[in-house]
Amino acid sequence: MERSISSANCETDIQWVGMLPWALAPARLVMRMSKPRLKEKRWNRNMEAALAQRWVSEGLYKFHLRTRKRIFSIDTPPPYPSGRPWSVGAAAHYSQIDMIARTARMQRHEVYFPIGIDRNGLPVELYTERLHEIDIHETPRERFIELCKHSLDDLEAEMISTMKTMGLSGDFSHYYRTDSEEYRRLTQASFIHLWKLGLIYEDTRPNNFCVDCGTTIADADIAYVEVPTTLFYIHFRLKERQGTVTIATTRPEFLCSCQAILVHPDDNRYRHLHGQHCIVPLYGREIPIIPNAAARQEFGTGVVMICSYGDSSDVRLFRELKLDEIVAIDTKGRMTEAAGKYSGLSIEEARKQIAKDLEEQGLIEKKENTMHRTPTCDRCDTPVEIVPMKEFYLKQIDFIPSVRKIAKRMIFHPEVHRQILYNWIDSVAIDWPISRRRIYGTEIPLWYCSNCGKPNVPEPGPYYRPWKDDAPFRSCQHCHASKGFASEERTFDTWFDSSISPLFISGYLRSEELYLKTFPVTIRPQAKDIVRTWLYYTLLRCHQLTGKPAFKHAWIMGFGVDESGERMSKSKGNVVDPIPLLAKYGADTFRFWNAAEASLGSDFRCSEQRIAGASKFLTKLWNLSRFISSFPRPTKARFTATDRWILSELSRLSERCLKGYEDFNFFIPSNEIRDFVWNLLAPHYAEMAKARAYNSDNAFSKTEQRAAWFTLHCCLRSVLILLAPICPYITDYLWRSIYSQRSIHTEPFLRPSKRLINRLDKVTTSLVEFNSTIWKFKKDHNIALNQPLAKVYASPRIRSMRSDLLAMHRIQDLRFGVPSDPGKIVMSQGETYVVS
Ligand SMILES: [Zn+2]
Ligand SMILES: [Zn+2]
Repeated sequence: MERSISSANCETDIQWVGMLPWALAPARLVMRMSKPRLKEKRWNRNMEAALAQRWVSEGLYKFHLRTRKRIFSIDTPPPYPSGRPWSVGAAAHYSQIDMIARTARMQRHEVYFPIGIDRNGLPVELYTERLHEIDIHETPRERFIELCKHSLDDLEAEMISTMKTMGLSGDFSHYYRTDSEEYRRLTQASFIHLWKLGLIYEDTRPNNFCVDCGTTIADADIAYVEVPTTLFYIHFRLKERQGTVTIATTRPEFLCSCQAILVHPDDNRYRHLHGQHCIVPLYGREIPIIPNAAARQEFGTGVVMICSYGDSSDVRLFRELKLDEIVAIDTKGRMTEAAGKYSGLSIEEARKQIAKDLEEQGLIEKKENTMHRTPTCDRCDTPVEIVPMKEFYLKQIDFIPSVRKIAKRMIFHPEVHRQILYNWIDSVAIDWPISRRRIYGTEIPLWYCSNCGKPNVPEPGPYYRPWKDDAPFRSCQHCHASKGFASEERTFDTWFDSSISPLFISGYLRSEELYLKTFPVTIRPQAKDIVRTWLYYTLLRCHQLTGKPAFKHAWIMGFGVDESGERMSKSKGNVVDPIPLLAKYGADTFRFWNAAEASLGSDFRCSEQRIAGASKFLTKLWNLSRFISSFPRPTKARFTATDRWILSELSRLSERCLKGYEDFNFFIPSNEIRDFVWNLLAPHYAEMAKARAYNSDNAFSKTEQRAAWFTLHCCLRSVLILLAPICPYITDYLWRSIYSQRSIHTEPFLRPSKRLINRLDKVTTSLVEFNSTIWKFKKDHNIALNQPLAKVYASPRIRSMRSDLLAMHRIQDLRFGVPSDPGKIVMSQGETYVVS
């Protein structure tokens, strides 16, 4: 079977080899078979920790600012240590962000991958209150801040350790905290800058208020949920005529602040009441009946009561109709004095009591059970109330067109999630309230003159704590009096801090060189649910401060859901803790599972069974590597048809994977590599080339044997490199054991030549069909795989692979085409016929 090797042919093959990625790297050539270079029989997750140590000691992922490469900067989401176990979804999210960093390194970028921890805000306050059984309002401020810090330190240590275990290649030696002086200084400096630009103002407005968190919240912090509730049909006595009008409402506790009722101008049922009055039950106040298109004829009775403030449309109507506001609910969620005898009751209690009293007085016509779309606090799930509050606002309405333009120019991964941002931008209707009545946050740096009462703003630079520090000025900036200052007590909305993360990591106002080289930041990876907050606010703030877009790319990941497709949340009790899973299966299995689980941007199911399934692939890869590691690696080869076939498939694999990596969609390379190894390389090529690689009875020429060695190594090297961003541990271990002293994580991706990608789909189909049929035949007839077969017909497409097929299946007579005597066929599948 040996073909003559002409020098011309050899030449062609060497060129061809040159086009194969990773084929020609220097190899220590030992032309004799030995024991496997890979000694360990199986992959052990405990090897991961030692490798992680080695990466640190080698400084493998160190960022070099003075580099000739293009810098790729990542605005890693600083996770919030809120006291809940990190969910599997969050762990998956961070491992994929690491895949972005590793991909960029292999694309020959200098990668800047800072790690931060978000430590401002409510959850830690609530956690600290629970942990120490204290009340934030009854604990001295300094003491409470200390306790919060300690709680955060403990939670943070666990989170950092989980991130390291997962193999994150970020900079852990300088990780930042959003509650550090350095960070808060920058938040305050950005406020002072915007203040001086006239973009911040104070106003008393009805605001979204969470009575549980005790603070104003922005529209972006509201989640709408369907809540079962009762719809009460209440009689209001008419003033100008006999009888009543009936109003359907879910919130009878607001009767005390009811200032008008509306009917639709075209609603003929109520035309006779236009301009008349009715009497508020229980309170006896006289209010007008106003025709207004805001009344929905089809809801309840078509008559609606307007109170301060049942919802955001009440706010608008109060303004439009110039009604006098009556404050019904205080900031503790209790009824105010306006509620009369119900004053001091909680909203729930008042609703029950008022409904009972109305019923006793015969003022309730009927009750219906209904579902109500209720705005709730995103942090604590409490229904949001609308309470008039004096707050600071950052102007955002004027900037909407610019932010939209920036959003349009950014590259989204996946593209489809750009729409989430557009939808939010289109819905922004009021400026952003940025002040919060909380403690564990960045302080608003303002002092108020005791003479004129006006706010005084300090110079940017230091970290200011007005509640603790003396005012940094002698006299008032407005009236020049020196009568002392009162301090501002409020803090910022935490999004006001986190929305400058790209400026913080790029050294804005701190390091000119770093800033010039890393801003705009290359990519913002983040979860889908905070597009309207973190992504939107960041684009807004960075544009206001620098006039530039914050990012070139936005990478938006979906949610981890449980096995029944429900989003994981603490309140549902379906959060799966990733730490025991990482301990049991190791980081690479976990990473491979989540990369392969769902396409980028889609929600992914978390189940231990699927994670366990991923470990089988790593075992397969290990076994295959061990087999290949027992052969030497030649530097050149003259390929057989079988080799050319798998190398062509390898080139196609390479091309598809690199395309997936370009979109940072790790679903594509993980699944493509698994398919290639599991369905082609291991069962077909490795089996076909085995006899040639061992060549124990010298049935093949040395050239053919060497080609098998070469091809096996070429496939393995390529697979390891392509898999390295997803499974950094096992690939590095195999690489260092078989190929190099240096880590695989210093290798770049190489693009295969287009010319290598032959149209071999049909060959692959015929070959897979042929092998599968023979294996099935032998199995069905209890013939051992190494036992001979008499006569087989195969598709002419695989004629050129004849010698490998003969050797693999021990076929005595292999022919191509269709058997002339169909009567003798004992088994057939497609173009394969086993003949008796
Ligand atoms: Zn809340
Ligand atoms: Zn003054």
